[in-house]
Amino acid sequence: MSSSPDTVAREVARRRTFAIISHPDAGKSTMTEALALHARMISEAGAIHGKAGRKSTVSDWMEMEKARGISVSSTALQFNYEGNVINLVDTPGHADFSEDTYRVLTAVDAAVMLIDAAKGLEPQTLKLFQVCRHRGVPVITVINKWDRPGRSPLELIDEISERIGLTPTPLFFPVGIAGDFRGVLDRRTGEYVRFTRTAGGATIAPEEFLDAEHAAQREGSDWEAAVEESDLLSEMGQDHDEELFLAGETSPMIFASAALNFGVRQLLEALVELAPPPTGREGIDHHEREVTDPFSAVVFKVQAGMDSSHRDRLAYMRIVSGEFERGMVVTHAQTGKPFTTKYAQAVFGRDRSTVDTAYPGDVVGLVNAMALAPGDTLYTDELVQYPPIPSFAPEHFAVLRAESAGKYKQFRKAMDQLDSEGVVQVLRNEVRGDASPVLAAVGPMQFEVVTARMKTEFGVETSVQNLPYGLARRTDAESADELGRQRGVEVFTRTDGAILALVSDKWRLQYIEKEHPKLTLEPLVAAA
Ligand code: GDP
Repeated sequence: MSSSPDTVAREVARRRTFAIISHPDAGKSTMTEALALHARMISEAGAIHGKAGRKSTVSDWMEMEKARGISVSSTALQFNYEGNVINLVDTPGHADFSEDTYRVLTAVDAAVMLIDAAKGLEPQTLKLFQVCRHRGVPVITVINKWDRPGRSPLELIDEISERIGLTPTPLFFPVGIAGDFRGVLDRRTGEYVRFTRTAGGATIAPEEFLDAEHAAQREGSDWEAAVEESDLLSEMGQDHDEELFLAGETSPMIFASAALNFGVRQLLEALVELAPPPTGREGIDHHEREVTDPFSAVVFKVQAGMDSSHRDRLAYMRIVSGEFERGMVVTHAQTGKPFTTKYAQAVFGRDRSTVDTAYPGDVVGLVNAMALAPGDTLYTDELVQYPPIPSFAPEHFAVLRAESAGKYKQFRKAMDQLDSEGVVQVLRNEVRGDASPVLAAVGPMQFEVVTARMKTEFGVETSVQNLPYGLARRTDAESADELGRQRGVEVFTRTDGAILALVSDKWRLQYIEKEHPKLTLEPLVAAA
């Protein structure tokens, strides 16, 4: 029996689904743990701090699970906070990038951009931010590691405004310079929130609330400096504005130390108060499915299961509308076939047992999901199909070959399978032939995933040979011949039929564009 639309509306209103975007080492794992601590999922933090020697391919959350004995999935962590349900969707690809990283951002309603106070904006954060901007995902900024020497608040604020055109509107202003983190000025109330360190930062940091007068007595010139700089920001119009935040123009900012658990409650409050709850989505027929409409969901990630048999493939879906009940039979929009969700897997924080019910914004893993690919729609009742997840511009290219010619059939089958799962983009041309497909990826680790899965799931040893191309452009049949004659260019057809020209570097591209202005060379921008 399905719940009433009222129940669904209530569940939606108290849900927030977000991801943390950051550069490796900014403190994503530490912050995740700190959030779990605040949500009282765990009683003590600290075991996973310091990742020296940890393999980047091992999910940090799995580490956390081992260390803490709590059950978290490598894809979504769900916890309750003051009556709200928070879904933190992991952005994989810690030391590297993959399409998965981008796809996750299609499953969230907000992002937390986590920045190291000493380093400022770093490359992976920038890339992920661009995806958020492109998709209209509002961003909350957290300046982390404020307990360590770093830059000044205004310097960091300026860097963000100038480099990415996002205006930070701090909700809290730090009292004490980076390296001497005393507390924060709540810019909306004028109150001082003073933090107290706990042993090893292992438990929630106690907070003391003081009015301005007492704060001045307590912190002297540090308090005065915070008030002055905060006033300066107000004069420049850098106060929180909900409309501008949701429009992606401004970003509420918080100063924190994930390691000391300072500023973590402030982040949770900001998520609950400011981040948007799940909303409906428009289908390809331009008809909007409301959150209270019958069940629908989008698959945003497909993963081979733990037991290395591809039968155990897990598809993760984000629920868009309605109530999900385990066992429900849903329709796979791409094939029109029914799909039984008997084995829906809990990707919930508290326990790993099966999911019984879930609501819009929640992430559910489906076992045995052989037919499902990223971007696919599942629904009940009235047909709906959501737009496909855009594929992102690849920057790494390599030829894949089977080590032994005798395995060609398995190789071909495996390639089709991995291609359909969206593990990498697969390109072919007549010169290279079918036995040497070219893989295109946004991060080189995707190639390792391919060779590893080729071996474990299909028993095919493969080798990867990198190609000297650095970018891809979409072209057409008319331009293909001329492009093929250019030095540093090779033309391919992608499985979806798109004709792509791989170019060695941007200088070569600029040269060709200048010499042959009529040739079609379009950037592979992600579709909206
Ligand atoms: P990730 O790669 O973004 O997941 O980063 P981690 O959470 O693994 O943190 C990277 C390193 O920074 C670890 O050594 C952490 O202990 C440390 N770290 C994380 N947050 C803080 C912080 O707020 N203050 C300090 N001093 N160190 C931190």
